[in-house]
Amino acid sequence: MATGKLVLYLLAACCASAPVRAEWVSRTVDGTMGTRIQVEVWAADNAAGDIAIDAVMAEMRRIENNLSTYKPDSELSRLNADAATRAVKVSDELFGLLTTAMDYSRITEGAFDVTYASVGFMYDFRARHRPSEAQIKKALPEVNYRLVQLDAARHTVHYVRAGVRIDLGGIAKGYAVDRGIALLQQRGIQHALVSAGGDSRVIGDRFGRPWIIAIRHPDRQDEIITRIPLVDTAISTSGDYERYFDEGGQRYHHIIDPHTGHSASAVRSATILADTATRTDGLSKTAFVLGAEKALAIYKRLGDVDAVLVTPDGKVHYSDGLAPAEVLSSP
Ligand code: ADP
Ligand code: MG
Repeated sequence: MATGKLVLYLLAACCASAPVRAEWVSRTVDGTMGTRIQVEVWAADNAAGDIAIDAVMAEMRRIENNLSTYKPDSELSRLNADAATRAVKVSDELFGLLTTAMDYSRITEGAFDVTYASVGFMYDFRARHRPSEAQIKKALPEVNYRLVQLDAARHTVHYVRAGVRIDLGGIAKGYAVDRGIALLQQRGIQHALVSAGGDSRVIGDRFGRPWIIAIRHPDRQDEIITRIPLVDTAISTSGDYERYFDEGGQRYHHIIDPHTGHSASAVRSATILADTATRTDGLSKTAFVLGAEKALAIYKRLGDVDAVLVTPDGKVHYSDGLAPAEVLSSP
């Protein structure tokens, strides 16, 4: 008895005098949303960090269940099944994302278009399968964001033509990253990184220094083109080396030009920086379709977006906002 009490007193004394032990807690999970999720937080202690990361991972799974077209029961799959026959009422979340997606279509002159999927569903990059020219020609008229009618008063979505399909693969991961960051902020976390595949966002700094994100060479995985220091920023990289197969000297990859139904190859990779990951994700496909020059002009006009683009000739193009001093080009 006495010994037990002594231990308790000692423990109490030790804990009362111990300094607050904030620490970095991190976790990486493969598979959710078909990619690698990474979360790193500066938390009051290990347990608080773990609970916060649990919440982010659960949110990612929830979003995947609602928005994935690979899940036949997802809200988006049900919309795709019904919206050509009637106006379908959708959740605030899906309606909001579709509204944002349409904005990006207008901003990017149709380069970003969630109805790319009307043709895109016929590609299977893992199985090295692509549609025939005849199949593309037949389905291409169904690729057009203007065929999607959003009724803001009723929160309904109607596809005005049969055969239209939507896929949110070009924006959902960025959105999920923003939701993850929002959940961390609600818990009072001020320093964190959340990343889902090529879409990341950081809040605060790391040990008083910026977070450093590297952009890899499109062909050589271990070679780094540049490193970018980040504080309170989102960043997305799209590359033609992410999901692809080569055939007959041609690369078939997962970013589709809505005007042709073929893979869009005006750049090899595009890295976009802005305040939210929804925005950087939505804008990282533009240069593949429109080319570096036109995309950089659009980003400049927007004013809140920076970019690093790698063209097929190997040249690296920076937006005006990325002054050389901000880019640490050597390892
Ligand atoms: P990740 O899926 O790794 O985040 P990206 O951000 O580069 O990669 O997005 C590529 C995805 O975007 C494709 O897998 C597809 O789901 C979707 N997509 C492809 N082409 C377009 C397009 N023109 N407009 C909108 N989304 C697209
Ligand atoms: Mg992305």
